Amino acid sequence: MPELPEVETVVRGLQNTIIGETILDLEVPWEKALIADDPYESMVGKSITGVRRRAKYIVIELDRGALVVHLRMTGKLTPLFSEKHVTVMLHFESGNSLYFKDTRKFGRMVYTEDPHDMLAHLGPEPLGEVFTPNLFYKMLRGKNRIIKPLLLDQTFLAGLGNIYVDEALFQSGIQPLSIASAIPRIRVKSLYSAIKSILSASIQAQGTTVLNFSHGDNQSGTYQGALQVYGRGGEPCLQCEQPIVKIKVGQRGTHYCEGCQKKYS
Ligand SMILES: [Zn+2]
Repeated sequence: MPELPEVETVVRGLQNTIIGETILDLEVPWEKALIADDPYESMVGKSITGVRRRAKYIVIELDRGALVVHLRMTGKLTPLFSEKHVTVMLHFESGNSLYFKDTRKFGRMVYTEDPHDMLAHLGPEPLGEVFTPNLFYKMLRGKNRIIKPLLLDQTFLAGLGNIYVDEALFQSGIQPLSIASAIPRIRVKSLYSAIKSILSASIQAQGTTVLNFSHGDNQSGTYQGALQVYGRGGEPCLQCEQPIVKIKVGQRGTHYCEGCQKKYS
């Protein structure tokens, strides 16, 4: 499942390739993938003025309206044609095209006149300027919820997924079943820093993945090697050598170290 860094990587790739293109035609081999009242009427003749990320959404700005894309499990946006698994094709006046490839077909592209309205329910961006340690502390202080699912809740904080939440909680020494409001301010500060540094490092590591992304099916990226707890259940903790524990929290596989992470409740 692509998380914030993967989506950011895709967005950066698209910023270099599709801005300025004008849509000449479209094909929709998998109709469910494109949601628009009248796709042809609303998209053809429009030019792409920008590409940005909001949470895990890719927002392709048109000179009127926008295409909001969610890649879900296996979606990819690529300039490279392939016969298989293409759900939507955008053909540009320049002769270039953009293909929405999606083996599992859960990904969606939505045309909307007002992307702000569609994305208004999302919480702050963890790498955005609005998100400060003080704001984060205030957000957590009011919540008597378990920290792990709270951090996964996109209306609370946008863009974090399972892998990065486990890693951030480990780095800040907070056990995933802790109650948000019980976490002391100093720990909240470390969690804040961990979220920022993990996401930034991962975006850096994904920089080389864009190529793989287009040429093959390697979605793992190079950040994989930096993971401290995620996917390491039963293996020794890199800090204290106790075996990493794997449990389920709200249906999600959750990894942590009993020696290094304290439960606040
Ligand atoms: Zn440990």
